[in-house]
Amino acid sequence: MKILVINAGSSSLKYQLIDMDTEKAILKGLCERITFEGSELTQKNAAGEVLNIKQDMKDHTEAIQLVLKAMVDEKYGAIKSIDEIAAVGHRVLHSGEDFKSSVVIDDEVIKICEKNAELGPLHMPGNIACIKSCMAVMPGVPMVAVFDTTFHSTMPPKAYMYAIPYSIYEQYKVRKYGFHGTSHKFVSEEAIKYLGKKESKLIICHLGNGSSVSAVKDGKCIDTSMGFTPLEGLIMGTRSGDIDPAASEYIRAKLNLTPEELVQYLNKKCGLMGISELSSDMRDLNAAADAGNEKALLAIEACAYRIKKYIGSYAAALNGVDAVIFTGGIGENSVIMRKFIMSDMDYLGAKLDPAKNALREDGIRDIATDDSKARILILPTNEELSIARETKALAFNK
Ligand code: AMP
Repeated sequence: MKILVINAGSSSLKYQLIDMDTEKAILKGLCERITFEGSELTQKNAAGEVLNIKQDMKDHTEAIQLVLKAMVDEKYGAIKSIDEIAAVGHRVLHSGEDFKSSVVIDDEVIKICEKNAELGPLHMPGNIACIKSCMAVMPGVPMVAVFDTTFHSTMPPKAYMYAIPYSIYEQYKVRKYGFHGTSHKFVSEEAIKYLGKKESKLIICHLGNGSSVSAVKDGKCIDTSMGFTPLEGLIMGTRSGDIDPAASEYIRAKLNLTPEELVQYLNKKCGLMGISELSSDMRDLNAAADAGNEKALLAIEACAYRIKKYIGSYAAALNGVDAVIFTGGIGENSVIMRKFIMSDMDYLGAKLDPAKNALREDGIRDIATDDSKARILILPTNEELSIARETKALAFNK
């Protein structure tokens, strides 16, 4: 069975065709600059052959049409006909409070997503456009919405409430939602399999360009660091993460920004990029810090320190921890970040083995010392596979 996974942004569309018998992607592609001049599609098949089509895509419908054509391309495609696609899984940014899990898409689901579009104005319109386009060009093929937020819907009210008037929460649904749910779900399920322990206390650190930590008890999320939007929590590539709201208002006034410009500023100009005034990319910062750049080192240290504090607070929330798990581009690859984060964690019973931490290997691995009470795992995330598994389960009840 082949499942198409679609991850649409405002002007981009990433896709993977996954063979569910092997759970491997047989095709990966990306459409960029949709709605702009100079849009293009790049696709790689399992043999590593790359197809590049430069063609204007004026909306997501045109993008989907091009994707369908590329997938059946005789030389560069992976299937003979689109009838081979059993179902489509759509990554959708925001569920609001309306959905607690993934859902088979019908007109009612689309209406609810449209109502919730204001909770994610950058992503939701692209998500909805893609769903509608796919339904139009692939009638009869089951479509499933897999939300970035629903894995966190098990958080108790005490974790998701902001200390604002309750009536404002009720009226406008302002609360912590959490994001990266497909990754946290995939990683927690794989970790539970690896540890052989359904009853477990896990702290999952998804560290990439965007980063978040979650506390997962017995497979269910009880807290997470992102909030009403993905801006809250950790220091990220270009996002500030937690900041005193009064400080951000002070910056807004000093820089003469509009409220919208301030939100853009906190999302795009801060984080690692802001502190280092050099780069949002951890590899660049590692190289610069090694060469003696003090602001690059400060950015790395501040980022690691905040993650350490979140781990500490989630260990308190969980009353202990069985495993701290690293995933995402930084979590999976940055030896120095894992070292900074996990140093002096003896109080938690978590001891990092420096030699295991420095090894570069593929797949899931344990980098704690043999006598460490808590395990420390590196577990590569696979959000597309997570979406494909959900899609298969919902569309075919298996
Ligand atoms: P992601 O958003 O998950 O793709 O992660 C992107 C982040 O991972 C960027 O900050 C990259 O610099 C970082 N990253 C990727 N590979 C490495 C590496 N080998 N060492 C350190 N950071 C890395």
